[in-house]
Amino acid sequence: MEEKQHEKLVYLLNEFSEDDEPPSIISISTNTSEVSFGLNKVGVRTGNERISPSSRSKTFQEKHFPQITEKEWNSWQWQVRNSITSHVQLSKFVTLTSEELSAIANPQHALPLRITPYYLSLIAENNPVQAIRRTMVPTLNELVMSCGEASDPLSEEHFSPVPNLVHRYPDRVLFLATGFCSAYCRYCTRSHMVAKDKCHVGIKAWQPAIDYIKNHPEVRDVLISGGDPLTMPDSHIEYLLSSIRQIPHVEMIRIGTKVPTVLPQRITRSLVSILKRYHPLYLSLHFAHPDEITPETAEACRRLADAGIPLGSQTVLLKGVNDTVKTMKDLVHGLLKIRVRPYYLYQCDPIPGSAHFRTHVAKGLEIIKGLRGFTTGYAIPTYVIDAPGGGGKIPLLPEYYMGEENGEVILKNYENQLFRYPDYID
Ligand code: SF4
Repeated sequence: MEEKQHEKLVYLLNEFSEDDEPPSIISISTNTSEVSFGLNKVGVRTGNERISPSSRSKTFQEKHFPQITEKEWNSWQWQVRNSITSHVQLSKFVTLTSEELSAIANPQHALPLRITPYYLSLIAENNPVQAIRRTMVPTLNELVMSCGEASDPLSEEHFSPVPNLVHRYPDRVLFLATGFCSAYCRYCTRSHMVAKDKCHVGIKAWQPAIDYIKNHPEVRDVLISGGDPLTMPDSHIEYLLSSIRQIPHVEMIRIGTKVPTVLPQRITRSLVSILKRYHPLYLSLHFAHPDEITPETAEACRRLADAGIPLGSQTVLLKGVNDTVKTMKDLVHGLLKIRVRPYYLYQCDPIPGSAHFRTHVAKGLEIIKGLRGFTTGYAIPTYVIDAPGGGGKIPLLPEYYMGEENGEVILKNYENQLFRYPDYID
C-alpha cells in the first residue's frame, strides 16, 4: 500500500466518534458496498475477503434464507443483523419444547437470547438435548437459584479500580471493551455485565482504563475481553490496540473471543491485517464442543495462525455438553488440527441458574486423567477452578505425585503403575 494511503487509512480508522456503537445497536447500512466500515472507500480491500460457506451452511441458507445471496450470508454484518433474538424467530428453525418456549419468553433471564444464523445452522432442529443447542437455548433451569451461586462469582467488580478494567493479578489486567457478543452462552461467567449497559464503548469511555494501564508500570499483559471484542468495528479494534500498544511497559496483548466459533465470517482479511500489526498478540478462543469445528471455523483459524497469532482455546466443562473423555478428546484433537492449542478447561462458574451445567469436580479430573498419557501433551488443557471471590485460577491435577519416602518421590503414571524417582539431595 502507498505510504500516504496507509496514513489516510489509519486516520480514518481512528476517527470514530462516541456515536459509534457495537453491532447490538448500531445501524448498519444495507448497502453491501459500505458494510465493511468504509475500508473499501480507501481502496484497501484485498481479494478473497470472505470465508466461503461449507456445503452444510449452503444447504441451511438455501432452505431458510433463500432470498439472500451467498455474499450476504458470508457478511459478518449480515449475520449480526439477522441474528435470532426471540422465541418467535427461533421457532421457525427449531422445534422448541414447551419448556424452552416458556424459558425464552420469561423476562427474568440474566442473558437475552442471541444466535447468529451461521451458528444456528449447527443446532439440531428436533433434539433439545443436543450439545450446542443446550449452550444457546435457555431452559427453565436458568431460573433456579442453587446454593453458592452468585451473579459475579469471581468478584470482578470488586477488583475494578476504574470502569471497563479488572486488576486482579499483579502484572496483568482485564480490559472489558464491550458488553456485546454475537451469541450468548447460557453459562456465561459475565452474564452480570454482558448485554447490559455496564460496559461502555468508545474513546472517552475507554480512556480511564487506558490511563490506568499507563500509570501502572507493573502491567505487562493486557487481556481485551468483554463481551466479545471482535464484534466491534475494525476502527474500534484498531484504536484500542494502537492505544494499548503505545504504552511502553505493555509487553503483550491478548484478546478473548468466541467469534471464530460463532461468527467466523468476522475474520476478514481486513481484520487480520489490523491484528497482525500489534504483535505480540495472542488470541484465546472459546470452544465448547467438537461440532463447532467446521470448515468456516477452520478457515478463520488458518487466517489468524498464518498472521502469526498464537491461538489457544478455553473450554468450560459443561454437563451434557462435553463432560466425557471421548467428547473432550474429539474436541482437543479437532482443535490441534486447526492449529489451536487447548489452553484451559474451566470448571463451570457458579452463576445463578447454572446447576444444570455444572459437573462434580471429580468429572474434570477424570477427563484430564483420560487424556494424560493417552494423547499428545499439546492436546491437554490445564483444568482450573476460578476461585469464587476473586482467588484467581487454581489448577487441579489427578494424583500423580504420591509423596516421598527415603529420599525418593513416589509417582503414579497414566496406567496407575507406581514409580520411584531419586530426589535431588543437597
Ligand atoms: S462469548 Fe464469552 S462473554 Fe460472550 S456470552 Fe459467551 S461466554 Fe459470555
